[in-house]
Amino acid sequence: MPEDTIFARIVRGEIPADIVYRDDLVTAFRDIHPIAPTHVLIVPNRVIPTLADATASDEAVLGRMLRVAADIAAGEGIAQDGYRVMINCRDHGGQEVYHLHLHLLGGRPLGPMMRR
Ligand code: AMP
Repeated sequence: MPEDTIFARIVRGEIPADIVYRDDLVTAFRDIHPIAPTHVLIVPNRVIPTLADATASDEAVLGRMLRVAADIAAGEGIAQDGYRVMINCRDHGGQEVYHLHLHLLGGRPLGPMMRR
């Protein structure tokens, strides 16, 4: 069942993670395989499998994810130089964990968005 994603288990505190922020709607923790000096994942506490599954009733949590990303970036000291936020959606988007998550990446120049 979708409540049993690895990220849901992190949200519930059942498996360890390096949590950097949590509130009533979202939890943020460091990616276990970082691809940049700052690589934080921000997830809704309630499982939304993919961005494509989000509905109008999810607007508050979607907005919170972006606000929290900006706040964490400021706290990490990467806002001045800039950073990237990214959501992979389903198969062609390269999504591996089917619990919506936003990647916050920064701390070095990240280059162009993708290879052509
Ligand atoms: P995506 O490809 O967008 O689904 O990204 C999934 C991300 O989750 C990858 O960057 C993984 O390194 C990360 N990840 C998988 N398991 C864990 C975990 N237990 N704790 C933290 N990050 C994880």
